[in-house]
Amino acid sequence: MSVTTLPKVELHLHIEGAAPPSFIRGLAAEKKIDISGIFNERGEYKYTDFWHFLEIYEAATSTLQSPEDFRRLTRAVLAESAASGVVYTEAFLSPDFCGGRDVGAWREYLAAMIEAADEAERQDGITMRGIVTCIRHFGPEKAKETAICAAETAGDWLTGFGIGGDERAGELSDFSWAFDCAREAGLRLTAHAGEWTGPESVREAVDVLHCERIGHGVRAIEDLALVDRLAEDGIVLEVCPGSNVVLGVYPDWRSHPIEKLRARGVKVTVSTDDPPFFHTSMEREFQMLHDTFDWDEGVFDEITRTSLDAAFCDGETRSRIEKRLERRP
Ligand SMILES: [Zn+2]
Repeated sequence: MSVTTLPKVELHLHIEGAAPPSFIRGLAAEKKIDISGIFNERGEYKYTDFWHFLEIYEAATSTLQSPEDFRRLTRAVLAESAASGVVYTEAFLSPDFCGGRDVGAWREYLAAMIEAADEAERQDGITMRGIVTCIRHFGPEKAKETAICAAETAGDWLTGFGIGGDERAGELSDFSWAFDCAREAGLRLTAHAGEWTGPESVREAVDVLHCERIGHGVRAIEDLALVDRLAEDGIVLEVCPGSNVVLGVYPDWRSHPIEKLRARGVKVTVSTDDPPFFHTSMEREFQMLHDTFDWDEGVFDEITRTSLDAAFCDGETRSRIEKRLERRP
């Protein structure tokens, strides 16, 4: 089977982390910013571990300074996703990097990204929705401001709220105010957990922050009672196997728990996280899952349906994408 022609739905993608290195190099040259140290001799992003990755990520992001930069970035990212067969994507957007959490500035950045998304929908047939994400290692006070940006712009396009960054910084419960604020504004919730911290962090994301999806969440596998509970409650895991393997959460694809979680009834989905950083794409993730676990078209169909059901978009958008899945070649 060929995974190339399968239509794909992606739920976990950081917009800055999806920036093609050539795009960031171009912006740096235009603005005369020297970030040559973040690339290796092949022009790829270079880092040693997750914490160094966060530093390189923020250095690359320093070249993105205006709504126009984010418009161009969004367009470039969606072109890459569409080329990999993605028909619907949800991207994490950070008011921290878009106007320093000022609501007025954030509105301008958001408008620019929506403009790019509309153009990509017309030209490349890919639909995008946004999820505002606060950054855990920036602390709970900044997360409150981020949540206010999200709440003020919640709607059909900006549909969710989440948290990313260094999972080992502080406690998830420190961010309750931000998550309550987002939920009261009608935003749907997801949190990075169970990647660098164990199953207890997944429990906390569900019980304390009331998340219906978990970013990664794969380390739930270390506690089978939790795995069963995730399955019963229909909590969805945004699994990014390539990211986990490159960052060393698991030593190789064979050791990755995605198939065990799926076999035990957990709703798993597949995403790329920060594709150029992890030398991946949705097409490659599908290919590796096929090669490693023998996933066939039936399994990929099930994954894509689960992803679309778990998408934070409105019903009308969901049925439109559903029709696209049915129409596939
Ligand atoms: Zn992530």
